[in-house]
Amino acid sequence: MSRIAIFPGSFDPFTKGHEDIVLRGLSLFDEIIIAVGYNSTKSQRYFPIELMVQKIKDTFKSYPQISVQTYAELTATFAKKNNATYLLRGLRNTTDFEYENSIAQINRNLNMELESVFLITSPKFAPINSSIIREVHRYKGDVSEYLPYTL
Ligand code: ADP
Repeated sequence: MSRIAIFPGSFDPFTKGHEDIVLRGLSLFDEIIIAVGYNSTKSQRYFPIELMVQKIKDTFKSYPQISVQTYAELTATFAKKNNATYLLRGLRNTTDFEYENSIAQINRNLNMELESVFLITSPKFAPINSSIIREVHRYKGDVSEYLPYTL
């Protein structure tokens, strides 16, 4: 059976830190679906979702085992519909851990077949944070070194 993982997030924007998690995930999974969510708590995106989907697709165009989708439902439900039994997430620090710990328990209760897998961020990408990138971009700062594509 092929091992399918989903890598869910807002990806507003998708960064080199996210790219690193996906590329490292390739040694664990046969297929990775990057799932760009319409997060109910972050209703106003900064980067349009269509733009981000296109940029992520361009980033991984030479990897047939990586696909990109948008979703607006429970991550656990989206995983089941796509036959994904692994949920891939990145951990940068203890703040991420606290959040991911509770969300992983809830996701598993919602879908018992879903196993969360965490990769510790590569040190050089640990400071990269989508909300800080949005702030820098908003005030015309250069964010290109944090992104795996050109805006
Ligand atoms: P969310 O909206 O769910 O917080 P994000 O788009 O911010 O999603 O991030 C998606 C996933 O990528 C999360 O698991 C997050 O911890 C991880 N992540 C975010 N930034 C980095 C980074 N710089 N390096 C590695 N993982 C990261």
